[in-house]
Amino acid sequence: MKLLKDRILAEGKALSDSVLKVDGFLNHQVDPELMQAVGLDFCEHFKDYGITRVLTIESSGIAPAVYTAQALNVPMVILKKQTSKILNGQVFQTNITSFTKGTSYELTLSRDYIHRDDRVLIIDDFLANGEAATGAARLVQMAGATVAGIGILIEKSFQNGRSRLEQAGFDVYSQARISRLGEGIIEYLE
Ligand code: 5GP
Repeated sequence: MKLLKDRILAEGKALSDSVLKVDGFLNHQVDPELMQAVGLDFCEHFKDYGITRVLTIESSGIAPAVYTAQALNVPMVILKKQTSKILNGQVFQTNITSFTKGTSYELTLSRDYIHRDDRVLIIDDFLANGEAATGAARLVQMAGATVAGIGILIEKSFQNGRSRLEQAGFDVYSQARISRLGEGIIEYLE
């Protein structure tokens, strides 16, 4: 998606050869106009997939996911990051290791908001090793629903997230696919 790719080149900062900072429009400050365009682009791509719910992970996925859900005219559900297991039977949980922080947390979904007949579109800001997206997909499957697609704003294609998701049979669409990061270097796949 050209608008997003241009913005990453203009404002993104590669902190190392594996971490990109985009705090100015996505992770700290949010540009609603760009997020709306991102949502419309996801809607255009997934409009024929029969999506009934958009699912994202707090907190950076929320802005793009809400515009995607609005464009698809379906509800948006937020997965919570809990530090400990909840043992009340009202939630599904799965353990995730964070790529950026190196810590782990319990990704949590209430039983109330995803149902067996749902076709779910998972939206996340970044795809690195696929931990977060794979965990989100596990929760959808625990709820007995179907993962209809996975939409990512920024894929770091030199990491193994996409191949992991594709091997698991998921349909992945990424708006910006980065082939290389380095000091002052951000390159895209053709
Ligand atoms: P994965 O679970 O695919 O290994 O990593 C994806 C998650 O880690 C995303 O939800 C995102 O929050 C975070 N993440 C991974 N790589 C980056 C990065 O380069 N920059 C930022 N800001 N977040 C990242």
